[in-house]
This record gives sequence, structure tokens and C-alpha cells, in this order.
Amino acid sequence: MLDPWGSSGPTNDEDYERIKKEFGIEEIDEVIRQKLLNNRFIRRKIIFGHRDLGLVLSAIEKKQPWAVMSGIKPSGSFHLGTSTTALEIIDFQKMGGKAYYCIADIESWEDNGITYEESEPIAVDNLADILALGLDPSPDKAYIWRQSKEPIVKDVCFKVSRLVTQNMLKAIYGEKTFGLYLSALVQTGDIIIPQIIEGPQPVIVPVGIDQDPHIRLTRDLTRRYYKTFFLPGATYHYLLAGIDGSEKMAKRNPNSSFTFNEPLESIEKKIKGALTGGRKNKKEQQELGGEPKNCMIYKMLMYHFEDDDDVLADEFERCVKGELLCGEHKAQCIEKVLKFIKQHQKKKEKLIDKARELLDID
Ligand code: SF4
Repeated sequence: MLDPWGSSGPTNDEDYERIKKEFGIEEIDEVIRQKLLNNRFIRRKIIFGHRDLGLVLSAIEKKQPWAVMSGIKPSGSFHLGTSTTALEIIDFQKMGGKAYYCIADIESWEDNGITYEESEPIAVDNLADILALGLDPSPDKAYIWRQSKEPIVKDVCFKVSRLVTQNMLKAIYGEKTFGLYLSALVQTGDIIIPQIIEGPQPVIVPVGIDQDPHIRLTRDLTRRYYKTFFLPGATYHYLLAGIDGSEKMAKRNPNSSFTFNEPLESIEKKIKGALTGGRKNKKEQQELGGEPKNCMIYKMLMYHFEDDDDVLADEFERCVKGELLCGEHKAQCIEKVLKFIKQHQKKKEKLIDKARELLDID
């Protein structure tokens, strides 16, 4: 069972294949990939599966409106995991979808015990991050809300709840608190909100595979309650493992990731300790080549820090041939990450007031 609030998830190709089959997630085939090459995550095959992405493609072709929806739980600083979803929503916005971005403060309370008031500065900080990454907040291109302040999403929660039994929720999520079940139903409202505000249209929700239970619940309830709406679609990306080689990035293991607010020395130290796909010594690496597919340095560059596909492909090839050594590559990666973080922090500083204004927080 996939647990959107849990700390474990699929870790290998077999797990992903099994989940795809069990829950009917479609492959991103070559036809779709070729049509969406300007989306970095699809081009680089980080997004591996989807539901109803074809509806968005057809809206793009017919120049009809469509939307992309995602959000963040304001419970901590931006890190490599949260920024994956943020970059995905930005990419889809650039392709013409109106971006709906939710600050999931109800979920933050239900899952982490963070009150709405305590989550406010975190929400401002998170929103400034996504603005600095490139989200365009103009009203014709984006709609941003806090769950606790948005009556529409709470309204949807009450309306659809009439169709929901405890057994249904238990079958999807397992035994959880009633608060988590409720926050899942509020999320149904988050996913449906584009169609309530703008009328029926295709909506795509970029998520990590662990969030699929929310997508399945929302599609089921949309089918039964909002009969004229499009079933919300989704894209699924591979979850990034911890950079130290642990199964998943987790707050209780600080070496598994770094945040965008962290001191540069600390980030540098963590990258130095990252798991690579390198061999046990230089001679072996030159003879056998490295394994970039099992390397967190390569993955960090691929997901976040290397914009140029040719550079990435070249590094992959040189690694496999044993021409690139891990020490040298780690040093290059550290340089790129620190350069990015410095620029990002500068940009973000200037966007804090804008984020406050958008969230109506003093
Ligand atoms: S050379 Fe680079 S990509 Fe290859 S295993 Fe080492 S750090 Fe990873």
C-alpha cells in the first residue's frame, strides 16, 4: 500500500513496475515524450508515468484551456524533493497551463501538528522559493491559496464526503487519524478547484508516486460527484533517494538531503558525503567505469542542477567509460550547487514581500 504521509516508498525498478500495473498508471511512451520535449522531467525520463496526460496534449493542440495543480505542505524549508514538484509545475506553466499552487496548511496541522499560525512564516518562505525558481504569479497565469483560508476546498470536502465511507478510506490509505482522512478530502478540493473556478478543463497534477492514493481518491469522487468535470490527470516522477544512499530523503536523517536555506558549508559537507556509483579505487574506476544510474551526484545534477542536456550526456558517457572520476565530478557538482543556492537565496530575498502579499500574511 502506498502511504502519502509515510517515510518509505518504492526503491527499485520492480517496485515501480508492480505499482504501475496494480494501479493502472500508464507509461510515458515515445509519442508523448516527443510532443513534450520542452519539459525537462519528461525529456530526461524522470517522469515515467501518467494518467490522462493525453487530455492536456489535446487541449494544447486545440489551444483550449488547461491547468496544472500542485502544492506544498508548509512544514519545513524547500529541499530537493519539494523543489522537484515545484520545477515540474513551473515547466507545465511555461507550456501554457494555468498554475494552481496550494499551501497545504490543513495537512501540515493534521500530519505534523503545526498550527496555521506557526505555518505562516514557513508558507511565505516556501512560496518565495517557488517564485525564485520561476513560477509566474500573475493572476491570469496562477492561482495560489492556503487551504485554511480557501472556502472552496473545504466546501468540496463536505460535499464529496457524503459519498465516502470509512472503509473506502481505510482501503486506500490504511488506518489513519480522522484528521488525515479529512485532509485527503480537502486535497480533493485542491485538485478540483481549477475546474470549479474556470469550468471543466483538463488538469494535470505532477506528483511523486507515493501521492497516487490522493489522485485515485479524487478521480473516483470527481467521477461520482462532479460528473461534467474532466477526471484530473497526473504525472509521476521517480522519488529521489537520500543523497547519502538512504532509502528516502527524511527529516530525521539530516544527511539524506539539504535545504535551500542551509549554510553553504553544511551543503558542501553533505555533497562530499553523497553516495556515488564509483568503484573502490581509481584504477578500478578507469578499468570498469562508474555507474551513474546508482549515483546521487549524477541524479542531483539530472533533476536540478545541470540545465544543459549535452553536458549531462557527456558526463554520463565519460563516467561509464571510466574517464570521469568521482572526486573531480563531486567537486564540479558542489560548485554548481553552491552557485545555484547563492543565486537562489539572493533572488528569494527580494520575493519575500511578494509572497506575503500573495498569501495575505503581514
Ligand atoms: S564519476 Fe560522477 S557520475 Fe560517475 S559515479 Fe562518480 S560521481 Fe557518479
